[in-house]
Amino acid sequence: MSWTATILTLFPEMFPGPLGQSLAGRALENGTWNCDVRDLRAFGLGRHNAVDDTPFGGGAGMVMRADVVDTALDSVSRQDGAPCVYLTPRGRPLAQADIRRYAAGPGVTLLCGRYEGVDERVLEARSIEQVSIGDYVLSGGETAALVLLDACVRLLPGVMGSAESGVEESFSDGLLEYPHYTRPAEWQGRTVPDVLLSGNHAAIARWRREQSERVTRERRPDLWAAHLSHSSSRPSVQE
Ligand code: SAM
Repeated sequence: MSWTATILTLFPEMFPGPLGQSLAGRALENGTWNCDVRDLRAFGLGRHNAVDDTPFGGGAGMVMRADVVDTALDSVSRQDGAPCVYLTPRGRPLAQADIRRYAAGPGVTLLCGRYEGVDERVLEARSIEQVSIGDYVLSGGETAALVLLDACVRLLPGVMGSAESGVEESFSDGLLEYPHYTRPAEWQGRTVPDVLLSGNHAAIARWRREQSERVTRERRPDLWAAHLSHSSSRPSVQE
């Protein structure tokens, strides 16, 4: 059974979208993963297949109905252990550790919000994980779902070649990755750090580690603080 992304959306035509291309597209074609898209409108109520209603308490916008979302979720035969995730700016920040967990399981069910979002009760009743892809507001959960899926699919066995191996990349050890360089060795007067041309693999590994620590410290003090508190080894670069 291949890894399955089940997507509940009002815009089914948005999938697989960009994930039909490149690494993810090849993996979709060869059956490494499967994209099962469900149109939420099909579960709507009445003559107009209504999926939303006005918010209790007043205010702008519409809210996706709990009963409609619940019926749609009932239609999904969830594989054992496949988590259900609602993409929302109110969720906890999506992290590479979540992606690794999702990719290691049988798949994910993704609920894509529209309008003001989904009635809170169905999220509570079904203990749905709530995840945000960043501190900004998108017009719908579909693009967030594509981001989550892209990150998962590339970790599935056989999707990345050795050339794209994820072993050393950003977040793999709680740090951002070191900078990369390729030919030419000099470009517009800018050279490549000497150590990378030295052939000294131990020195190169040391330099890369120092760069990872420097970049993380400068750009992501939150990750750096977490790294310092979790790491048993002393950092090689001073704060
Ligand atoms: N009223 C909501 C709020 O202020 O939190 C925003 C609703 S947004 C216009 C519509 C849908 O887009 C949300 O229900 C959610 O599914 C999705 N969405 C928007 N921003 C997101 C983000 N940063 N991460 C994940 N999903 C997001």
